[in-house]
Amino acid sequence: MPNVSITSACNRACSYCFARDTLTGYGADRAMTLEIFAAVLAYLQRSGINEIRLLGGEPTLHPQFAALMDMILATGLRPIVFSNGLMPPQALNRLRAIEPGRLRVMVNASALIEGEPALVDQVRQTLRLLGRRAMLGVNLHTRQPRLDRLLDTIATLDLIPRLRLGLAHPTLAGSNLSLAAKAYRQVGRNISAIARAAADRGIVLSLDCGFVPCMFAHESLPSLDVAVSDCGRRCNPLPDILPDGRAIACYPLADLGAVALDQTVTAVTIRRHFQGVLAPYAALGIFPECSACELFRDRRCLGGCRAAALRRLVPASRPFVLEAQQGWRERMRAEVPVAFACANHRMGAGRSR
Ligand code: SF4
Ligand code: SF4
Repeated sequence: MPNVSITSACNRACSYCFARDTLTGYGADRAMTLEIFAAVLAYLQRSGINEIRLLGGEPTLHPQFAALMDMILATGLRPIVFSNGLMPPQALNRLRAIEPGRLRVMVNASALIEGEPALVDQVRQTLRLLGRRAMLGVNLHTRQPRLDRLLDTIATLDLIPRLRLGLAHPTLAGSNLSLAAKAYRQVGRNISAIARAAADRGIVLSLDCGFVPCMFAHESLPSLDVAVSDCGRRCNPLPDILPDGRAIACYPLADLGAVALDQTVTAVTIRRHFQGVLAPYAALGIFPECSACELFRDRRCLGGCRAAALRRLVPASRPFVLEAQQGWRERMRAEVPVAFACANHRMGAGRSR
């Protein structure tokens, strides 16, 4: 389902954020207009999509957040709000006025794991007030995240009994903190270690995009929302929508360019465009050994996150300074001519600097 970034504003600064690089180009508080939002809703309905996932920055900081929620509910789309848990009271009240079954608020648990006590208290209070509207999610950017305490929080606050696990993927420029592929197997062991405790508490572990089968030692882990054997196919750029209404493949792949939403384009046509852009790199996996992997050959694993795989093209000796990032973008422009061939699609056009 597509993510729609309704504002570039954010009240946290997560080191692993893969949206910051792109959203910085919009300034500190660029908010999607109601007109563009209406066009996005029409695009989703035209595409046969029945959910809308609101992102930012922090989406509840949009100055007309309540009006946007009204527009969504009027269409019958199901809203999913991705929040860091630090919401203005008006936005929190608007969300609490919606029945739990019609809404999901995905609260990033990083503050609960890493935050100062005052921050933890604030996020816990938000969770307490949202109750069964709230589901915890965490972006894994270290080898040993403290996931066990999140199971306690879910149970104690009686939240939706699921925990969304995402891998912190790199942007193509590598400007965010991301989880190195060489750490995946250790992270897989950590997930296996809490899978039994989660199952015992009736909590499902939900795997986001980019997980790969070789992370996990067991073929069937209790409480995962996907069979381990199937998790390697979850790199399916959505696409994501920027505050100015243009579509990118996904934030880590934002440098592949942006597509304007006109009145006819659908998610299928945009996805097909980006699949064409990525096609020359289908033989590239996140590990050198992917090319010899049986799962890769028969497409049961796509070789991990495309952005992480493409990052392997960057010479290891190259320092990740701005000049090098610009060099990388130039190289991608040269290597992905499809994006330049289309009048609407420009490499780097995802930014409005
Ligand atoms: S294709 Fe690569 S990432 Fe996927 S299971 Fe095989 S070795 Fe792991
Ligand atoms: S490239 Fe694929 S796995 Fe990586 S962030 Fe995008 S959709 Fe997810």
